[in-house]
Amino acid sequence: MKCERFLTIPVSAVFLSMGFVYYITIFVFMEDWVGLQSSAGSLNSLIFSFLSFLCLFSFFSCVLIDPGLVPASYIPDVEESGGSDKETDKNVAQSTRCDKCSTYKPPRAHHCRVCRRCVLRMDHHCQWINNCVGYWNYKAFFILVLYATIGSIYSTVIVITCSCQKDFGGKVSLKTFYIICGAAMIGLSVTLATLLGWHIYLIIHNMTTIEYYDEVRAMWMARKTGQSYRRPFDLGVYKNITLVLGTNMLKWLCPTSVSHLKDGLTFPISRDNS
Ligand SMILES: [Zn+2]
Ligand SMILES: [Zn+2]
Repeated sequence: MKCERFLTIPVSAVFLSMGFVYYITIFVFMEDWVGLQSSAGSLNSLIFSFLSFLCLFSFFSCVLIDPGLVPASYIPDVEESGGSDKETDKNVAQSTRCDKCSTYKPPRAHHCRVCRRCVLRMDHHCQWINNCVGYWNYKAFFILVLYATIGSIYSTVIVITCSCQKDFGGKVSLKTFYIICGAAMIGLSVTLATLLGWHIYLIIHNMTTIEYYDEVRAMWMARKTGQSYRRPFDLGVYKNITLVLGTNMLKWLCPTSVSHLKDGLTFPISRDNS
């Protein structure tokens, strides 16, 4: 049952953290700063509530969308794609068998030890969503990180602005609470922004986290043997972005809009487009 994915400590911790940040941002700091009855307070709380809803929706999408199962009938199509050219060789070389599942692995698929199955275009297994991040839920994961980063920075600005203007009047415990909240929000924002930056880097180069580490090894090998290394799936920045977010820019920020995705079994490689 997919709903069982919610019943873990890390997933519960994410829910609790989201709830805590939402509560203190609106009902403690925003209330204290401008008051929720004021127009500035109402507008800010409305925007922050909407952002929190988008975060929650993206989080549910990440947890519930299956990252991509390799069909049992999958066999690498060697003959149809034309035999001996280098592009085919590259694709076939990556279509290896998985010893644990005893099936063929399409290019970019990997076996996840936690999920105990092969996952299409696997990025990594994420304990915070208790699910693999793969072909079908990578967009939802990226959009979640994006909304969470924006929400976290928004909250940090409110917490810090409110703390700077507050007259604590000798209340040490209240001052300590404000400082701890400010430090925690700065830490959360920096962590999320770093994660967002990392995935923007991966998207514009059309790579997964696993492929990045494979690439480091391949580049080292290429340097050692005096060859040049080319990223096989890098089709150019814009094309790479549309492969993850879709061609319709109006749907880029919708985590469940994945009609641009195909079957996750084959991927265009850079020489197809050059
Ligand atoms: Zn496997
Ligand atoms: Zn997994």
